[in-house]
Amino acid sequence: MEQTEVLVVGAGPAGLGVGLALKKIGAQFGILERHKVGYSFARWPAETRFITPSFNANAFNLIDLNAISPDTSPAYTLGQEHPSGKAYARYLKALARHFELPVAEGVEVVRVEAQAQEGFLVHTSDGLFQTRFLVWAVGEFQFPKYTIPGSDSGLHYGKVRSWSKVQGDKQVVLGGYESGIDAAYNLVLLGKEVMVFDPQAPWLRQEGEPSVDLAPFTYERLQRALDSKRLTLVQMAIEQIEKRRGHFLLHHAEGAIQVPHPPIVATGFGGGFEPLGSLFEMVKGQPRLTEKDESTQASGLFLAGPKVHHRGTPFCFIYKFRARFPVVVEEIGQRLGLDTTPLEVYRKRGLWADDLEACCTSRCAC
Ligand SMILES: Cc1cc2nc3c(=O)[nH]c(=O)nc-3n(C[C@H](O)[C@H](O)[C@H](O)COP(=O)(O)OP(=O)(O)OC[C@H]3O[C@@H](n4cnc5c(N)ncnc54)[C@H](O)[C@@H]3O)c2cc1C
Repeated sequence: MEQTEVLVVGAGPAGLGVGLALKKIGAQFGILERHKVGYSFARWPAETRFITPSFNANAFNLIDLNAISPDTSPAYTLGQEHPSGKAYARYLKALARHFELPVAEGVEVVRVEAQAQEGFLVHTSDGLFQTRFLVWAVGEFQFPKYTIPGSDSGLHYGKVRSWSKVQGDKQVVLGGYESGIDAAYNLVLLGKEVMVFDPQAPWLRQEGEPSVDLAPFTYERLQRALDSKRLTLVQMAIEQIEKRRGHFLLHHAEGAIQVPHPPIVATGFGGGFEPLGSLFEMVKGQPRLTEKDESTQASGLFLAGPKVHHRGTPFCFIYKFRARFPVVVEEIGQRLGLDTTPLEVYRKRGLWADDLEACCTSRCAC
């Protein structure tokens, strides 16, 4: 059995970002990754681009929105303003290599047990680990969510490798938020006719909060797709999908629509919490967290990444959840009796969101 003080699960931006902060305070830690560093990004559809722009303005304390540490910038590493998934995976790999992060690839965590006094037993595909602190950073992308009954017969966004491989001239997309509009835009670009259904019509929202509204990059592309006259946006709920021989029926309140191809399912992503059993208390699908992103059920278990949620605000973008890395690592460092002052660089560079009252919604005045 391998023993460590801190075990991080997942080598995406969340797990690596926490790892970089742990390294700064000299903690003894390891990172377990079931595939490879940056795997979720490597599996994005080939055409998908970051909606948050990258720019290396770090010297002016405006850290690249997609960076996971104060001293790096994907814009600089990749030379792309809206990186593709494959490019961003290269940035993550470069970081893991450059900073010599202790990542074990091909090791899947299958079950976690809380120990009676303190710490966790972590069962993996490569044996048993014992750790005092566990940071859960498994992301969302690899866990497709099917909210519409029967929609698992459709094609989930997370399973598409390239929109050019999707068959048929007419497509239906279920869900009109970021991934749904991204799918629609890329399909329209390929000359297809596309209908997007969403009862909330996210394309109408004007909240001024980036977790709720479509990104400017998406609005621009949406407008181009609408100009083509091949895109129709429908504010309506599809209530059930029925797979028939040779076609699909999409049931709604007033009848059904028949389509020849599987609908594209863009209804979001789950959270990969199964190996933890009930170590997080789930409230409406969200893990309940302390002010330090620790589980309210299991002392020593922390969450990092897009499922972090406070005061009704999801920390779903990298620039949001990275600001919680020093909060988690400071807490762990203090309990381990380590000097956490090396983390001050995160505060100086604006990468530390610990005042949850003042933070973290960004409604604009105009
Ligand atoms: C299409 C799309 C576009 C997006 N665009 C943007 C954007 O423009 N800007 C932005 O800020 N955010 C964007 N996001 C959100 C952002 O990509 C995610 O929030 C981010 O990937 C989360 O990082 P993560 O490290 O938590 O998860 P991931 O990158 O998914 O990393 C988690 C890792 O954990 C591993 N893992 C999972 N389960 C286990 C297990 N049991 N044992 C061991 N390892 C495991 C996985 O293999 C994976 O490598 C986008 C998301 C999507 C889906």
